[in-house]
Amino acid sequence: MPLLDDVLAHNERFVADSMRPITRSPAKRIAIFTCMDTRLIDFLEPAMGLGRGDAKVIKNAGTTVIDSQGGVIRSLVVAVHALGCEEIYTIGHLDCGMGQIDERQLERRMLERGISPEAIAALHPSLGEWLGTFRDVYGNVRRVTQIIRDNPLIPNDVPVHGLMFDPASGRLELLMNGYRAAPNARPAQG
Ligand SMILES: [Zn+2]
Repeated sequence: MPLLDDVLAHNERFVADSMRPITRSPAKRIAIFTCMDTRLIDFLEPAMGLGRGDAKVIKNAGTTVIDSQGGVIRSLVVAVHALGCEEIYTIGHLDCGMGQIDERQLERRMLERGISPEAIAALHPSLGEWLGTFRDVYGNVRRVTQIIRDNPLIPNDVPVHGLMFDPASGRLELLMNGYRAAPNARPAQG
C-alpha cells in the first residue's frame, strides 16, 4: 500500500477512538525550538516530562536560524505574544545530520535530480550558509540561543535556554541558563 494511503487509513482508525479536544495555549507556557531529526519524535517531549498540550514545538533542519525575521523567529514571536509562552528552550542534539552535510555532494545530488544551477546559485550567500550547516553542534546551539535572546522582537523578560539532547540516551545537558541571562524573568511554573 502506498504510504499516503496507509497514513490516511491509520488516521480513520485513530479518529474513531475520539480524542478529547484540549486548549490551544500550552499548559506549561513554553516554546521549544529543536531539530526535525526523526529520533526526537515522541522521545524529546517525554524526556522533558511534556505531553500533548504542554508546549509549542518548532522544528527545522539542525535547530538553525539564518534569518532574524524568518520562520523560526516569526513562530517564536507568535508563541510569546499571542499564545502565552513565557520561556523558550533551544535544543540541539548530538549526531545532528546538519553538522555532517557535505555542501558539494548535496549540490551534486540536487543537480542530478534536475534542480537548475541558477536556482542553486541564487541562494545567498552560499548553499551551505543558506542551509545553516555547521561543524559544531554545541557552537550552533549557543549561537542560536544568543540570536533569539538578542532579537528585538523577543521581550528580554523571556528566558531563552540552550540545551543539548542525546537522541540515544535521552539525556539533556544544560548549556545556557536563560534565568541568569534574563534578570527580570518570571520562570514558568512546572
Ligand atoms: Zn538534527
